[in-house]
Amino acid sequence: MTNHELTSQDKASQANVSSARNVDVTVIGAGVIGLANAIALQKAGFSVRVIDKQGVAAGASFGNAGHFATEQVFPLADPAMLLKLPGMLLDPLGPFRIQPRYFLKALPWFMRFLVNMLPAKRAHNSAAIKSLNQKSIHAWQQLVSECGCSELLKLEGSLLVFEQTPLVEVERVYKSYRDAGVAVKLISGEEVRALEPDLSLNINHGLWFTQVGHTPDPAELCHRLATQFEKLGGKLVIGEVTRLANIGKGEQCVSVCVGEGVNYQSDKLLLSAGAWSKPLAQQLGFKVPLETERGYHLMMPQQSRLQRPVASFERKFIITPMNRGICLAGTVEFGGLKAPLVEARADCLLPHAKALLPEVLVGATTSQGERWMGFRPSLPDSLPVLGASPKSDKIFFAFGHQHLGLTWAAFSAQLMAETIKGEKTQVDMTPYRIDRF
Ligand SMILES: Cc1cc2nc3c(=O)[nH]c(=O)nc-3n(C[C@H](O)[C@H](O)[C@H](O)COP(=O)(O)OP(=O)(O)OC[C@H]3O[C@@H](n4cnc5c(N)ncnc54)[C@H](O)[C@@H]3O)c2cc1C
Repeated sequence: MTNHELTSQDKASQANVSSARNVDVTVIGAGVIGLANAIALQKAGFSVRVIDKQGVAAGASFGNAGHFATEQVFPLADPAMLLKLPGMLLDPLGPFRIQPRYFLKALPWFMRFLVNMLPAKRAHNSAAIKSLNQKSIHAWQQLVSECGCSELLKLEGSLLVFEQTPLVEVERVYKSYRDAGVAVKLISGEEVRALEPDLSLNINHGLWFTQVGHTPDPAELCHRLATQFEKLGGKLVIGEVTRLANIGKGEQCVSVCVGEGVNYQSDKLLLSAGAWSKPLAQQLGFKVPLETERGYHLMMPQQSRLQRPVASFERKFIITPMNRGICLAGTVEFGGLKAPLVEARADCLLPHAKALLPEVLVGATTSQGERWMGFRPSLPDSLPVLGASPKSDKIFFAFGHQHLGLTWAAFSAQLMAETIKGEKTQVDMTPYRIDRF
């Protein structure tokens, strides 16, 4: 097609890209969210600078479980937790823990979390989660293909396995996923082992989520995004954003202060600093109930025949086959951004993994593993903050992706690029507004 044969839609989109070309956007945070957004903005025609206090994949995006978990359609605020909660909280190595010194600090977040257990809120939040899930895998397929790293997205599905849970309960869980529109099969222990021969004979049932995927290296995935970002002309700055100025209505540009004195002037600003976004959002005029759910991994060097992530219903953790070995990940700990990693919480994943992979991990010790802790950025309704500031046409937000930041990164970045360009978005952005609290 020649230039004068362009449709009016093509012309409008070309005009939009060239008008965006003169507009620069500063993105705070080089985690998977900041990087995916940066590339989506470049594709929309903006020139983009990313600033990170430590560099690429320094936060939760480094060591997550690598699961593109679009089957997770239920908000975390589940009334079924209430009965189990006291026991969980009292066990320092349990899957859900509040550090005692952090209890009072976490209390306001928990009060909001409880409110989100109400049926109407849960239904609303679940619908908003599904809206993000629906195109997430497809968006990742596009993104890894553009970045030349399709080998970092594997579409083998995932398993949720059951050891002692009675079949009637397994069927209830199966039905809840199926009724929510998730592609899932209920399979026997033998069928589980036919898919994954390394798994234990103690597994009696499994749910096989057939349309999800995983990455064998979440950190490398971020580095490949960063390479693509730089290839497209993006600038990566290492430094801590300490202050934001000129943020009111009618200002010409936003001023982003890094460290003690370097100032970057920018036409637009996108805050995507994960669990660290709260004080910066406050500077921009919003008090958000952002907490961190600290999560752990123990990376074991053993190789297995696992093809896909395997989560345990009873043990509440996940095993993902990765390039560097077997990643054992999970647990939720409320303890803030400053408390150090608790080694025992990473180590306690190994006995659970040995029960599921007895032959692969026979003789394995925690000293062979690499312990890591990351800060999931979580809001009490399990929804991220996505969209424009209601107070300024220059400020935008993309943080709070909780347990699903890897899953949502590529699609939520498309939504943000549409928002920043002023286009109609693929999904209604109302549930994710920053002023919903
Ligand atoms: C154990 C564990 C397992 C997980 N498993 C999965 C999974 O299987 N699937 C899934 O979808 N999600 C998973 N997650 C969640 C996922 O990792 C996060 O939601 C996601 O990484 C968040 O990305 P982010 O870019 O918002 O934050 P981060 O990756 O934390 O990045 C934030 C960045 O902002 C930078 N920054 C902070 N403050 C400043 C500042 N003032 N100036 C400049 N830079 C700043 C930090 O240095 C950091 O690099 C898991 C998380 C954990 C902890």
